[in-house]
Amino acid sequence: MKLEEKVKKSIEKYKMLNKDEKILVSVSGGKDSHTAAWILKKLDYNIELFHINLGISKFSEISLKKVKELAEILNVPLNIVNLKDITGKTIEDLRKKHCSICGITKRYLMNRFGYENGFDVIVTGHNLDDEVSFLLNNLLNWSIRYLPKHLPVLPSHDKFLKKVKIFYEIEEEEILEYAEKEGIPFTTAKCKFQKDAITVEHRKYLNKLKEYNKNIKKQFLYGYLKYRHIFELEEDFQFKECKICGMTSAGNICSFCRVWKIKEFKW
Ligand code: SF4
Ligand code: ZN
Repeated sequence: MKLEEKVKKSIEKYKMLNKDEKILVSVSGGKDSHTAAWILKKLDYNIELFHINLGISKFSEISLKKVKELAEILNVPLNIVNLKDITGKTIEDLRKKHCSICGITKRYLMNRFGYENGFDVIVTGHNLDDEVSFLLNNLLNWSIRYLPKHLPVLPSHDKFLKKVKIFYEIEEEEILEYAEKEGIPFTTAKCKFQKDAITVEHRKYLNKLKEYNKNIKKQFLYGYLKYRHIFELEEDFQFKECKICGMTSAGNICSFCRVWKIKEFKW
């Protein structure tokens, strides 16, 4: 089955998207998010692109170039934000925890941008390999709060928009093959902080296991979907509004304002 058909099937199966929704596709410059935008445009969804310039030398420049190329070919609006304009700093200026702060930053900015600009849903390029490596990481750390959340669709609540992973069931190699065949512009440049991310090791391990059982990743994911209810916590949790930026937060100050020491939020 062609990749587009598989994506169409996932969209129907998990009720991911509607044709009347305004969709913000978060694009990084890499093959997965670019292919997500490409396929959604082909399937006639109403999309705009969103890109964050993280200020990582060489990597961010080449990523931005590829994102611009993609927007031009697809003829869709491209929204770019510069991390430095908002926080006064770049990911490179951090002394530690680059990837975890980068993750918090990307999730916050794409949600905030989508929320303030009337989007209904955010689509990311996360694929099956991403999902199972994050799931394994959260299991190894017993991050109980995150364990129920490895879903293809996270519904909206408070000021959080709906989040959708259209490649939830698709392996990375299939996306790469499609992207090359279609001539989608993307970069294979690697961020210099990637070597510090333990999930890269989990991916290697899962690929090794695939030599013994080619369905191991899907088996892990579908088993999780069957049994994930055991991780659901019965708690009466109330979200708040961040005292600085006003976005939905678990505590009085959201993690974005906390890690970047924000005093007042301005785009
Ligand atoms: Fe951000 Fe880490 Fe990815 Fe680099 S490797 S873009 S720091 S999450
Ligand atoms: Zn905040």
